Amino acid sequence: MLVVMEEHAAEEQIQAVIDKLVGLGFDVHRSTGALHTILGGVGDRDFEAAEFEVMPGVKEAHRIVSPYKLVHRGFRPEGSIVRVGEVAIGGEAVVVMAGPCSVETKDQIERIAALVAEAGAKVLRGGAFKPRSSPYSFQGLGEEGLRLMREAAGRNGLLVVSEVMDTTQIPLLAQYADILQVGARNMQNYALLRELGRLRKPVLLKRGPAATIEEWLLSAEYLAAGGNYDIIPCERGIRTFETYTRNTMDISAIPVVKKLSHLPVAADPSHGTGRRDKVPPMARAALAAGADALVIEVHHDPDNAWSDGAQTIGPEQFRELMGQLRMIAPAVGRSL
Ligand code: PEP
Ligand code: MN
Repeated sequence: MLVVMEEHAAEEQIQAVIDKLVGLGFDVHRSTGALHTILGGVGDRDFEAAEFEVMPGVKEAHRIVSPYKLVHRGFRPEGSIVRVGEVAIGGEAVVVMAGPCSVETKDQIERIAALVAEAGAKVLRGGAFKPRSSPYSFQGLGEEGLRLMREAAGRNGLLVVSEVMDTTQIPLLAQYADILQVGARNMQNYALLRELGRLRKPVLLKRGPAATIEEWLLSAEYLAAGGNYDIIPCERGIRTFETYTRNTMDISAIPVVKKLSHLPVAADPSHGTGRRDKVPPMARAALAAGADALVIEVHHDPDNAWSDGAQTIGPEQFRELMGQLRMIAPAVGRSL
C-alpha cells in the first residue's frame, strides 16, 4: 500500500494517514522526497484505495502488487542516494570500489590502497572473512585484516567495504567498515539480513549466483523492513550453462533493477567474469548500462594474489580502465 501525499501536505494530514494505516494493522514506512511524502504501509490487509484518497492532503493511493514494497521504485520514485561520509552512491558521480579479493599483509593492503586512491577509487574493498569454496583455501585474516584495511584506507582518504559472513561478525564489521558486504552465497541468509536491517550502516548486497532479480530484491526488502534503507544491490554474475567465464555477468539486471527499485545499483565485473582480461570491457558495459558503483578486484601483483588472482587486474590495467570510464561517464549523463 502506497499513499502519496500532496506537495504541501500538512504534518497533521500526514499523521492522520499514518494513524489510519496503523489502525488497519499496517507497518508504516515514511519516505520524504523532494516534493512528496510517500507512506508505505506493509502488511496483508484488506482496504479500498479510495478510503485514503478522500483524506485531506492525499494525492493518490495505490496497492503495490509487487512482493517487495519498500525497495519498490514507487516508494521513492526519484531514486535513493546512499550517503557514506563524503561519498554519495546513486547520485551523478559513479563510485568505484577497488581493492584486493582478500587482505593479505600490511604491505599489500597499503600498496593497493595507495594505487587505487591515486587512480580515483573512493572505497577500498577487501575481504577479511572469506567465503571460500574449499575449506582448505585461505579463509582471511579476520580482525587483523579489518584493522590493516582501515588504516590503509584512512591514510589514503578511502572508505572501507568488507564482507560480513554471519551475524556474530556484525559488531566487528560495523566497527571497522563503512559498508558491509553480504556475499553472493549469503544473499538468502535471512537471519543475517534481519540483523543487518537493524543496523544503520549501508549494505552492499551481492546477487546470489542462482537468484532471480525478484529474489534478490526480496532480500533487499528484508533489510528495508528492518528500517535500513541504505542498500546497494550488486550484480556479480550468475551461474548459467556457460563455462568459459566463471559466472555470466547479467548486465541487463542493472537497468531492470533500476526500473523496479529506487535503490542504487553496483556491478562487480571481477566475480562476474572470473577472467582478468574481461574485467575492463564488462566494467565499461556496466557503467554504460547505468551502474551507480563498480566493484573491482585490484592487486599490485595479481599473479601472486592469495585469492581470485585470475580475475584481479593490476595497477596499469586499473589506471587505464579508470581513464576509459572517465570518458564513458559523460556520454550517459554521469561523472567519475
Ligand atoms: C568477494 O567480493 O570477494 C566475494 C567473495 O564476492 P561474491 O560473494 O560475489 O562471490
Ligand atoms: Mn574475490
